[in-house]
Amino acid sequence: MTRISRRTALAGFGAASLAAACVSAPLPPQAPAPAADAARPFAPVHSRRDRITRTVVGLRPFRPQGFRLEAERFGEKTVIHNYGHGGCGVTLSWGTSHRAAVMAAETGAEDIAILGGGVMGLTSALVLARRGHTVTVHADVMHPNTTSNIAGALWLPSSLYDRGVASEDFLRLNWQVTREAHRGFLPFVNRPGYGVSWVRHSEVSNRVRDPRYQLPGGDDLYPGLEILTRETRFGFAYEERYHTLMIDPDYYLDQLMKDAQLAGARFIARRFDSLDEVLALPQRTIVNCTGLGAAKLFGDETLIPIRGQLSHLLPQPEVNYSYTAPGHGSALYMFPRQTGLILGGSHGRGDYSLDPSEDDLTRMIDGHAALAQRAAFS
Ligand SMILES: Cc1cc2nc3c(=O)[nH]c(=O)nc-3n(C[C@H](O)[C@H](O)[C@H](O)COP(=O)(O)OP(=O)(O)OC[C@H]3O[C@@H](n4cnc5c(N)ncnc54)[C@H](O)[C@@H]3O)c2cc1C
Repeated sequence: MTRISRRTALAGFGAASLAAACVSAPLPPQAPAPAADAARPFAPVHSRRDRITRTVVGLRPFRPQGFRLEAERFGEKTVIHNYGHGGCGVTLSWGTSHRAAVMAAETGAEDIAILGGGVMGLTSALVLARRGHTVTVHADVMHPNTTSNIAGALWLPSSLYDRGVASEDFLRLNWQVTREAHRGFLPFVNRPGYGVSWVRHSEVSNRVRDPRYQLPGGDDLYPGLEILTRETRFGFAYEERYHTLMIDPDYYLDQLMKDAQLAGARFIARRFDSLDEVLALPQRTIVNCTGLGAAKLFGDETLIPIRGQLSHLLPQPEVNYSYTAPGHGSALYMFPRQTGLILGGSHGRGDYSLDPSEDDLTRMIDGHAALAQRAAFS
């Protein structure tokens, strides 16, 4: 193993890493220590069509300048925007949603409406209901049918902004929010029913990163971080290996919604077709967590989809690691869940199609199978 000296700087991002220091934390850290390193050699993934249990498509709500977290006044009403988290909404949920909830509470309103029942809406609802507010969540699609349910979901900021577009102010905010978001998830690790656990993740590449930058939010968020240029996973030139969190949205969002309901939040199935309809709500403070829906509802022309397709494979309990690796066209990734392995790695910028693509499916199954072949020799 060869270690490379680390440099401290704001990171940019490529396919799977980006820029993201700690102010306040939504919840105190209580997590158990990560498990010991997995023994080598590691179990290869059986990437075959006959092992697919389902293929799903979702649209990441992407803004080149990064997520929108701010208050906007409409006469007597205040809308707190909390949307546009690209490929890492689950990851950032405890960061931006906690801040959005605090901003809503600071308007002085007791009765608060939340638009959206994805991870952002649910987290904001939980925080506000626990602070004693009367909370009503309005959404046309609820768990388990939101984009948040489709997410992979590895705790890793990625596909969040364009490096040439995001401002220095945003990068500083994002760094802080990323740290708060990480801290917010720690109390859920291994809590029964929440589907949150540590995983040993490898990000491998063909090129040695020199200089390398800190991982999003700071290297200290990634326990056990090792930089390898020999004996790398799959034999690539370079590997960053560390522990991060796996979040299974099917379990996590279910518990989050129950927790919000237990705290008193009400849920109403409703679609809004115009800003006027939103502003006709009786509440004077409204938290906007509509994800991609904010494009039409609030006229945000910078908000675009990045289409992603995932195939779920039958479970392989022996696969206790995750990876992001070079693939044909774009990086491929694999996340292990108790219910199955998640194969991903498609990024269709501006593509609104929700139909599974046969080309993407072939690229993923063949690409991950080729990586599994390399696993046998690395
Ligand atoms: C393939 C794929 C893989 C991903 N992998 C990861 C990952 O590994 N890690 C990670 O952190 N993130 C990942 N993401 C990103 C993550 O899914 C999103 O960033 C996140 O779901 C955004 O959450 P949200 O609550 O803002 O939006 P959503 O989950 O889309 O929720 C939006 C809510 O607003 C409601 N709404 C919208 N418009 C209206 C309207 N007009 N009227 C009423 N209600 C409305 C919707 O019905 C819904 O309830 C992935 C996404 C995809 C597609």
